[in-house]
Order: sequence, then C-alpha cells, then structure tokens
Amino acid sequence: MTRKPNILLIYTGGTIGMMKDYKTNALKAFDFSQIVEKIPELQQLNCKIESVSFEDAIDSSNMNTKYYISIVEIIEENYKKFDGFVVLTGSDTMAYTSSAISFMLENLQKPIIFTGSQLPIGDLRTDAKENLITSIEVACAYKNGKPIVSEVCLYFEYKLYRANRTTKISSELFEAFTSMNFPPLAESGVHLKFNEHLIHQEEQEETLIVRKHLVDEVVILKLFPGISNLVVESILNIPNLKGVVLETYGSGNAPNSESFICLLKTAIDKGIKIINVTQCKSGRVMMGHYDTSLLLLEIGVINGRDITTESAIAKLMYLLDKNLSDDDFKHFFEKSLRGELTDNYHF
Ligand code: ASP
Repeated sequence: MTRKPNILLIYTGGTIGMMKDYKTNALKAFDFSQIVEKIPELQQLNCKIESVSFEDAIDSSNMNTKYYISIVEIIEENYKKFDGFVVLTGSDTMAYTSSAISFMLENLQKPIIFTGSQLPIGDLRTDAKENLITSIEVACAYKNGKPIVSEVCLYFEYKLYRANRTTKISSELFEAFTSMNFPPLAESGVHLKFNEHLIHQEEQEETLIVRKHLVDEVVILKLFPGISNLVVESILNIPNLKGVVLETYGSGNAPNSESFICLLKTAIDKGIKIINVTQCKSGRVMMGHYDTSLLLLEIGVINGRDITTESAIAKLMYLLDKNLSDDDFKHFFEKSLRGELTDNYHF
C-alpha cells in the first residue's frame, strides 16, 4: 500500500480504558479520548488512527447481543473508509464477543482485531500498550496490496489468535487467552511473525454481509457427576428455548441412563437443537467413540467437534435465525463457517 493505512479504534470499555476511583478504590471507565493521550507512541505508527467509542463504556460483564449489533454497525458504517479495525473490549467476555462478531460478518476482507488488557493503560506495569500497539500493527500489515489478515482475531500478550478459537484462561496472568485447538496466526517478538499458511484469505472479492439477527433463547448446560434430572428437565423446559450447548465430558460423553437420554430426546423432538461440546480445553468430541456418547448420536445431538463453548453459543445464536431444516442445521453446525472448528471442509 502506498498511502498510510487508516485504522479505526472502537472502544467499548474494559480495563484497558479504566482508572482507579481513589474514593472507592474500584476501577471505573474513563473518557476514551484520553486513551490516545495516554499512549503518545501511537503517533509514531505508520498509519492514521481515528477512534469511536460507546456512549457509555461498559465492563464486558455487561456485554450482550445488542452491543454485538452496535459493534457490527460501527464496522459496517466505516468499512469502506478504513483499512482495519481494532476493537477494545474487556477481556472477561472477549472470547464470546469476538466469536459472535466473526459469525455476524460474512465475506470479510479486512482485519478486525480484538484486544484489551489485564491492567489499566495508566498503570506503570500495564500490558495495554503492547497489546494495543501490536494490534494496530497487525491491522496495518499489508502484502502485495492486500491485508495479511482479513478475519476476526484476538491479540493478547504477544499472540494473535483466530478469535472464534479463543478462551480466557487467566484472570491474573498477562497471558489471559489461549487457543488450544488451533495455533496462533502470528507471534510477536523482535519481529511480528505471521503464520500465513493458517490465515484465511477470502478468494473472491464479495460485498460484506452483516448479519444482525441473533437468537438469544439459548443456554449452556454443563454436566457434572450428580446433576439431577430435575435440573436438566427444568432447563430443557425453559419457555421458547431454541438451543442448548451441552458441555459433556472428555470426547463428548454423558450419562447413558434412560431417564437422562429421554429428557434430551423429548427436547430434540420439540425442535430444540442440542450441541455436544467437550468440557476439556483441548481435543474434540467423537460421538460414538464410547458407549456413553453413542445414544447422543442416535437421538440427534449435534457434534460440536473441537469448537469452544464461547464459539458454540455464538454459532447457535447465529444459525438459529436462519430457519434451517433439521438436516441443514446439523450440516452447517458441524461444518466450519469461519474456521471455528476443524472439519473435512476447507475453511
Ligand atoms: N472486568 C473487565 C472486563 O472484562 C476485565 C478486563 O477488561 O480485562 O470488562
């Protein structure tokens, strides 16, 4: 690229833009315009930076689907004008939010990099500067006139991940995220090294499609030894429930008692989609590998393969809006749409 890339920073909230309220000692969001003042180094980057912020910055614990829509609308309105986007959110729910945004944007041709920090930007030992500066560098990286990255990513503590593969693993360490089932797309050391063979490139230049409808009548049901049928039944009978991410054991195993299977089957017969996702941080669901997952397969539970829970709930919200037939729903869920799971299909 001959001109300087234009980057839009979208600030939604989170620790990165917080300051200590010395009266209460609690962290509180501050006016985003200060963020650029706090990092004068940003002016040294070889790009033009503009910023936009949520009217009221939020702690990411308050994130919800309305805010997801606000984020994609900001991207949609500014898509032509900017070459890349850096979205700042709190890290607590960043894996959920960035996964959802990856499904809501179709035919993406530009980098969208989510980042944040564990310590506020004004803190002496902050991780915010490196996270923000390198995220901007990633969003600016071009090769042969094209952005090196054109997918939704999450950058934290020297690693760039595919967003919909990430999980927050630490509330204290700077290395707060991991992506157990897919390697980092880039690593930052003395050089910023991209693993280009892992980065998705949209083959055709198609127009960006922004999907703004998500179905939020969904639930995550985590199994544990001793979970009662009453609890399972109550959850599956939530009025208007449309989908369940069922967190099972190991490679997708669950109790094979008749009563438990019968509760799941009744829900599936009512049209509720049940996705089998493993509680393990790495590895995948293999339905039918053990006797304790064979019945799940037989009653029509959908295989989440190696998807994360965060990504599964986002994909469920996204696909449920499409009024797909049962077969199509299963087909599209079990297939990679944005690189969120490993299947036999190419991206
Ligand atoms: N509670 C904060 C949030 O997620 C933590 C962070 O920013 O890392 O908004």
